[in-house]
Amino acid sequence: MGKTSYHFNRQTLTYEEVRRSIGQKIWVVLKQLIIGIGIGVVLFVFAIYAVDSPREQQLKKENKLLLAQYGVLSHRIDEYQKVLDDLQERDDQLYRAIFNADPIPISIRRPGFGGTNRYEHLLDISNSELVISTTKKLDVMTKEMYVQSNSYDELIKLIKQKEQRMNNIPAIRPLSGKDMKGISSGYGMRVHPILGDLKMHTGIDLNAESGSPIYATGNGTVESSGWEGGYGNCVLINHEFGFKSLYGHCKDLLVRRGEKVKRGQKIATVGMTGIASGNHVHYEVQVKGRYDNPAKYFFMDLSPEEYSEMLYLAEHR
Ligand SMILES: [Zn+2]
Repeated sequence: MGKTSYHFNRQTLTYEEVRRSIGQKIWVVLKQLIIGIGIGVVLFVFAIYAVDSPREQQLKKENKLLLAQYGVLSHRIDEYQKVLDDLQERDDQLYRAIFNADPIPISIRRPGFGGTNRYEHLLDISNSELVISTTKKLDVMTKEMYVQSNSYDELIKLIKQKEQRMNNIPAIRPLSGKDMKGISSGYGMRVHPILGDLKMHTGIDLNAESGSPIYATGNGTVESSGWEGGYGNCVLINHEFGFKSLYGHCKDLLVRRGEKVKRGQKIATVGMTGIASGNHVHYEVQVKGRYDNPAKYFFMDLSPEEYSEMLYLAEHR
């Protein structure tokens, strides 16, 4: 039963009962219901967005902490990267240089991680920028450490090879001290004694009597032994580790291609075959395909004084 409504009649000055139809009564109830629901919804939405539940408050706090911790970790990764950069630099400039190993190319040392596709799954989370940049830094560092670790493995191998290397590197003179009669031509640009033009002299010319023994200056394998144009009778020895030595203008050749030779082994005799104005051995040292001053490699059978004198002569004749 609904409430009874009254209407004040100004003419009769009495209250008269208002009679409503069923439809009107339903509408009144419906209207109140709609207003009630509307207020309820507004309050509900307000409660959801403006007031945090204890659980939400807790999560927000945790999120803040995690964010701060991410920042700290990101900073630490930067510091470790600096340490790694230092290790890489020392490796290239010092350790690898000691063992004549080429520096590791920057393209291998600094790996690229194309685009952000790799981290797409992280894009949806809040603070994705920090999370992605930190993850990326860590990925780059992991790869760089792998390269660095491989480099150390390679160095360990080189250290183990050191003994063999010391025996292989051309490290003595190709003539014995008693046979040698000085340097007739040093390493570098010079006027060719026969051809008369300015040319690079890729070795040094050591004078000796015809038939004096020529010795292998390091262990290795004979790469060629035979006539080589202007060099006449010529022996080329491959010492591995990038080193080769060449002995030109020989009279007799005493080794064959493919033969293993030891340092100090007699391989040929002094002559003046090819383009030569007198008896001498034209001696070359090649390092990784480039010529080097052979006098630099006479360190094993000379005193420091003799060595520096030899170096001086090799550069000034
Ligand atoms: Zn020469």
